Amino acid sequence: MKQEHIVIIGNGIAGVTLARHIRKLSDKRITLISSESEHFFSRTALMYVYMGHMKWDHLKPYEDKFWKKNRLELKQAYVTEVNTDQKRLKLESGELFAYDKLVIACGSKSNKFGWPGQDAKGVLGLVSKQDLEELEELAPNNQVCKRAVIVGGGLIGVELAEMLATRNIPVTFLVREPHFWNNVLPDEEAKLIDRHIREHHIDLRLSSNLDEILTDEQGKVKGVKIKETDEVVDCDVVGLTPGVSPNVEFLKNSAIELNRGVLVNRHLETSVTDVYAIGDCAEQREPIGNRPAVEAVWYTGRMMGETLAQTLCGNPMEYKPGHWFNSAKFFDIEYQTYGWVFPKPPEGHTDFYWEHEDGKKCIHIQYEKGSRQFKGINTFGIRLRHEVFDHWLTQKATVDEVIDNLKLANFDPEFYKHYENEIINVFRTQKAEV
Ligand SMILES: Cc1cc2nc3c(=O)[nH]c(=O)nc-3n(C[C@H](O)[C@H](O)[C@H](O)COP(=O)(O)OP(=O)(O)OC[C@H]3O[C@@H](n4cnc5c(N)ncnc54)[C@H](O)[C@@H]3O)c2cc1C
Repeated sequence: MKQEHIVIIGNGIAGVTLARHIRKLSDKRITLISSESEHFFSRTALMYVYMGHMKWDHLKPYEDKFWKKNRLELKQAYVTEVNTDQKRLKLESGELFAYDKLVIACGSKSNKFGWPGQDAKGVLGLVSKQDLEELEELAPNNQVCKRAVIVGGGLIGVELAEMLATRNIPVTFLVREPHFWNNVLPDEEAKLIDRHIREHHIDLRLSSNLDEILTDEQGKVKGVKIKETDEVVDCDVVGLTPGVSPNVEFLKNSAIELNRGVLVNRHLETSVTDVYAIGDCAEQREPIGNRPAVEAVWYTGRMMGETLAQTLCGNPMEYKPGHWFNSAKFFDIEYQTYGWVFPKPPEGHTDFYWEHEDGKKCIHIQYEKGSRQFKGINTFGIRLRHEVFDHWLTQKATVDEVIDNLKLANFDPEFYKHYENEIINVFRTQKAEV
């Protein structure tokens, strides 16, 4: 009998996890097609290569011989068309490539919002290996790049600011919201990070939108104009980091139904039989609880890959990501979130905020008013245990149980025990006052 051929477009965390798990479960033929790099690498660690903490090869979790040993075929090529009637892909070279089952795991691209000058030399995003190479070329030091302007105050923008700062390149950072990442973070945390970014000598401009990117006669960036003030900031590099969106342009003429991303059901099936989508490019038709329909985070790509491997190997499984969590780092301050903490507590919910006197550590909890059910926590500068919060969310613990037992969640009891008493005391005092 002919071996089933599974073709995966994209060799990121979603595609590679899927391939590994199919191989664990079956003998199917598997091909991973990707245009960006021959081998899988950790996208989340791109910044450390520029900062000199790692070399490119350190980003590759598997040795180069791993792929052959596990019979995972790799093809470095760009897919330009998907013909689902004939079950064939067209590659940029013109080659046609057949599949029995197709998995789209093609990730995200940087957003651009039609700004004048956005395609000029010197404008880049921070998503791909090629972006990193371009950054190295355009901003090797502060002689070649005298100033960079970053547009878009999210997780990738702050990483880019940190990267440039390590090479002493002055940075102006335009953030549309009144405080950093304030469309996601409540005011208190957003202000804490504003201060921290400024402590690192970043010229942070809040409530500031990009109007246009100015170029010289050679079409190279020479500055940006800020919409609110008409101020022109001279610069050699513009980092566009106003979020990412699914990388689905090459599917626009296919029969696969798209919205922002590739629309999928809970089994990660698209509108076309034998075609699936996972990772950053997949969009749930029916979002799961409060989760975004497109989840552009590392661990959900991995979970979708693991789940779909089961389905493709005869054990149909729904994607069930569990409770929301995430983590990141803003210069020196680590951030974790478990459950849901909204910028403002929703109707019927309230919150508790504690900040250490050094202004670099805080926790913010949201909970239901009547039942006092714990809904979520943000922590900055204090590392807490994922499994403990996952358990409390599943058990629908009250905020009182969470605060009283905070020590169970301590990642490093020795280091953090002295904050705990203070947090409990502040919580009790506030509760007594209500
Ligand atoms: C700088 C940065 C930092 C991040 N930090 C974090 C973090 O700290 N925590 C976190 O949870 N998430 C983080 N993320 C997000 C996380 O990296 C992504 O969610 C994850 O990598 C997505 O994986 P994926 O497998 O869906 O797609 P990708 O890793 O994007 O892989 C898709 C691949 O498909 C290729 N491809 C696309 N179209 C085609 C085509 N037509 N033909 C051939 N190949 C194609 C792409 O070139 C790419 O190589 C970060 C992202 C960036 C950019």
